Amino acid sequence: MADSKIRNILICGSGPAGLTAAIYTARANLAPLLLAGPQVGGQLTTTTTIENFPGFPKGQDGNQLMIDMEEQARHNGAEILYEKASSLAREGDHYVLETGAGTLRAYAVIVATGASPRLMGLPSEQTYWNYGVHTCAVCDGGFYKGKSVAVVGGGDSAMEEATYLAKLCEKVHLIHRRDEFRASQVMAERTLGTKNIVVEWNSVVDEVLGEQESERKKRVTSIRLKSTKDGSTREIPASAMFLAIGHTPNSDWFAGVLKTTDSGYLIVDEHLQTNLPGVFGAGDIHDHHYRQAITAAGYGCQAALEAERYLVRNGLAG
Ligand code: NAP
Repeated sequence: MADSKIRNILICGSGPAGLTAAIYTARANLAPLLLAGPQVGGQLTTTTTIENFPGFPKGQDGNQLMIDMEEQARHNGAEILYEKASSLAREGDHYVLETGAGTLRAYAVIVATGASPRLMGLPSEQTYWNYGVHTCAVCDGGFYKGKSVAVVGGGDSAMEEATYLAKLCEKVHLIHRRDEFRASQVMAERTLGTKNIVVEWNSVVDEVLGEQESERKKRVTSIRLKSTKDGSTREIPASAMFLAIGHTPNSDWFAGVLKTTDSGYLIVDEHLQTNLPGVFGAGDIHDHHYRQAITAAGYGCQAALEAERYLVRNGLAG
């Protein structure tokens, strides 16, 4: 795929922000190329029903929503490549991206690489990663039907994971480090009203405990909790632990080139432009405040319109 051709626009990321940008720039005859990245469709592919995306009165499956957005982008003329970018650099009047498919060039770039689930950093979390420690109940909850499991976190994601698992599992321990949830009231109330969810308030995970026969034969049996009030510890039986403790922006690939906050979120101005002219940010890569599918899609639209204006203003659109 590597070529010396300079495209109008490259879009990195295939969540709602990237795909919306692809739809808009394709419809503006800019022939965008979208690099889908390592998680095609982004985080929505790992959620359950999306109930708050306008246009779906009965909700929509997250994975299906992304399949449809991708089809819409293609239908409008966007090209999609199942590769990711590993670097970005300016060269004269355009940008050069190193990708899994070789070097690609474009006059404008939309960075929509989103964010990934945060981990706690415990060694035992790594030991049992994918063998009882997970970050997606929809993907992996089915392995623990009828068992006791745990969810960590106090935000909307944790509420969503816990209520989903409560339908499959005998009991869900919801571990939260404070005595009140960060989650929206409606989701917190739904969680607290679910009989088989037990909230472990003022608690953090001290260790994930289990049995390990070999590297590929191991399982989680319990979780040691530590009180954030008095430091005391206790064990709860659990066959799995689902982490829902927030996200880390996927910004490593442009580190040092595009300016970010201390926590790695892309810094953009009111036109979604980064510190480099013609490079725009959209979605969870810059927005750590709203982080909704609909706001990400909105940012994708804005970035597309801004990129189009940039290309026209500078006489670069081919
Ligand atoms: P979040 O709102 O940032 O919540 C993260 C939670 O994890 C917080 O309760 C936090 O505790 C806890 N936490 C963070 N680091 C921790 C650690 N090291 N150990 C233990 N606990 C830790 O993240 P989110 O729940 O993923 O939600 C992100 C955004 O997406 C929000 O805007 C949310 O509204 C939105 N969202 C919406 C929906 C929906 O509407 N359907 C579903 C999911 C997410 P503290 O509270 O003490 O900080």
